[in-house]
Amino acid sequence: MERRTPQRIAIEESLRKAGRPLSPQELLQLSRARIKSINLATIYRTLKLLTESGNAVSVHIPGEPPRFEAAHIGHHHHFRCDHCGKVYDIAGCMGSLASLVPPGFSVRDHEITLFGLCADCA
Ligand SMILES: [Zn+2]
Ligand SMILES: [Zn+2]
Repeated sequence: MERRTPQRIAIEESLRKAGRPLSPQELLQLSRARIKSINLATIYRTLKLLTESGNAVSVHIPGEPPRFEAAHIGHHHHFRCDHCGKVYDIAGCMGSLASLVPPGFSVRDHEITLFGLCADCA
């Protein structure tokens, strides 16, 4: 069990407070505001630890490097801004999409990403 270093605590807090999935670079910027000495290697190492322990999950947008978010949020979806590239959480879900699949298929899960412009960029 790795101890919770001040760096790790700063990274975890940045991730939680962001309230949206962050790229390792975004997480580096936010965490550096708390602890100047944090570097990208520490970010990657900590993200690996956090995902392995179930405290963070990776968010995959096709064609882009993974982003990461705190794992405490339940089922939700994402919005990616075409202009600034930020990814936001979307609360709520239209529910089961089981009616979309052919007869005999069973749906296990779904991920939905909407694309467009965020309020800052629209
Ligand atoms: Zn934007
Ligand atoms: Zn859903």
